Amino acid sequence: MFQRILIAFCVTLFWVNAANAFVVEGPRQSTGDPVEDLRQAPRWAVTEGSLVQTGQRGLGGGLEYVIDDSICQLNLVDGGNCEGAKTAIRQALSRWSDGHPALAFSDVTGRIKTGFPLAVLGQTQQGAEIDFLASTPAEFPNFRTALTNGYTIFYTRGRRGVLMTNGVENEVAEGAIESADIRVNLARCYYLDPEFDRPDCVHFPTLIFHEIGHALGIGHPDDSQTRNLDNDDIPYNALPIDCMDPTRGLKSSMQVQAAAVLVGRDVQGAGRWRRGLTHDDAAARNALYPHCDIETPPRFTRLWGAFARDPAGVYGRSSQALVADDAVSMALADCAQSGGHDCQVISGFNGCFAYALARAPGTMQLDRSGAIWASATDERSIKARIDAVEACNAQHGECRVELDFCAFD
Ligand SMILES: [Zn+2]
Repeated sequence: MFQRILIAFCVTLFWVNAANAFVVEGPRQSTGDPVEDLRQAPRWAVTEGSLVQTGQRGLGGGLEYVIDDSICQLNLVDGGNCEGAKTAIRQALSRWSDGHPALAFSDVTGRIKTGFPLAVLGQTQQGAEIDFLASTPAEFPNFRTALTNGYTIFYTRGRRGVLMTNGVENEVAEGAIESADIRVNLARCYYLDPEFDRPDCVHFPTLIFHEIGHALGIGHPDDSQTRNLDNDDIPYNALPIDCMDPTRGLKSSMQVQAAAVLVGRDVQGAGRWRRGLTHDDAAARNALYPHCDIETPPRFTRLWGAFARDPAGVYGRSSQALVADDAVSMALADCAQSGGHDCQVISGFNGCFAYALARAPGTMQLDRSGAIWASATDERSIKARIDAVEACNAQHGECRVELDFCAFD
């Protein structure tokens, strides 16, 4: 018999202060060691056949999913329609499988009936491997709190051991995930267009993007301060996972990548959708599903920022633009609005940017007329800052960072 192993609910106004890297939904009873919890964490296993063809539940044939027609009852306040919501689900799934040779999703809507074992006493029909459903609070009592946007439950079998995506038999993993149900609350209002941004409603693609992470076995990095894994204490840098020894180099860390898709608080606005998977989200996926041929998707390439400056040192900036041209024109407009004349674009970029100025000679103040200055960009904010100061110092200044920001800020 299957067992319930995880219930993750993602509410609107659930604030916590903890801050971390990534967390897996470990064994039902934590071992107390987050690295050991990762080893023992349940996950989808490599299987030969697929659910549709041979009845086997697992990664074979892709994770087979069904989008229930109840998704068409969503209250979409931006004029989005049912087909748009289904498209968002497919896009969110492909963001999780991007670049991963052993993780794929396959649409079996119409070929398998959805099933939600916990909803009806005695029901054992498990549905597809991942079911996407929408319910009213009357149908699904966990939605009684009006602020619950989504709810994901996954189920495992009790026996230990899974064949992992790197070909290694993991004998301590608590079990293979056999099905997951992602349910969204029909009492909430939703929108599909990331520009719509209505604060009392939920950006549906962002919510689904987050919930799929739970269906893969990933937890909220902000739920437990002691269970978070990183290889250092810098939350926003790359976190490479050893493909044959996925727990190698990992340790508990208290530092969060606050932009991570799996952060459990405030799963509502469109920012995480715009930014895509962070390093920590990708690391959580790659730690549970290690593989030596994973292509690292370029991070944050979906967003552009720019910096513009005039000869007198007046500057303007932009971030969160969807295309480079928009970032550039927004930065130029910002520079002109600040009183700049003949503003020129210094940099358009995807990652982070820093602008350093020299001190005015003989003072501690930065010389904002900007005779000596430099800028730099890098995927990491800290590296952009260091490079900008170095380049500025090289011009015989005594420089400090005047401004730094990232395209995804
Ligand atoms: Zn969640």
